[in-house]
Amino acid sequence: MTAENTKVIGFHYTLKNDAGEVLDSSEGHDPMLYLAGSGQILPALDLVMQPLAVGEKKSVSLTPKDGYGEVDPALKQNIKLGQFPPGTDVKPGLQFRAGSDPRSLMYRVINVLGEEVFIDGNHPLAGQALHFDIEITESREATEDELAHGHAHGPGGHHH
Ligand code: ZN
Repeated sequence: MTAENTKVIGFHYTLKNDAGEVLDSSEGHDPMLYLAGSGQILPALDLVMQPLAVGEKKSVSLTPKDGYGEVDPALKQNIKLGQFPPGTDVKPGLQFRAGSDPRSLMYRVINVLGEEVFIDGNHPLAGQALHFDIEITESREATEDELAHGHAHGPGGHHH
């Protein structure tokens, strides 16, 4: 983290794909709160929001490269059902890590055909252009606690 990344920014957002379908939205929830430059949100989106004032609205379009990356065919794999721990309910949508390290890649089960399990380690939004409509709800200096923890704290400082 660099010295200038001492801001906490709150925002509401709606995320759409190229077809205009809503993929995700903060509508009906508390605004997202993040520490600038901490990697809590997509860096390209972070850079657009840092100079904005509270109440400002902006539409931001990101290429797949600035979003969740291009689809990597090498991350689409085919493994055997027997490679899962016994008792695992292996079905489409199941997510699991490739190793015990919490930083190891997250895979999704796409399909199960007999003993064959088709998995994908790409982010579900990889290869997609992302269109964000954002509205800044908060922009303030981070507290010492937030800087020490490397993330933003919500009202009352509570977090998980
Ligand atoms: Zn914390």
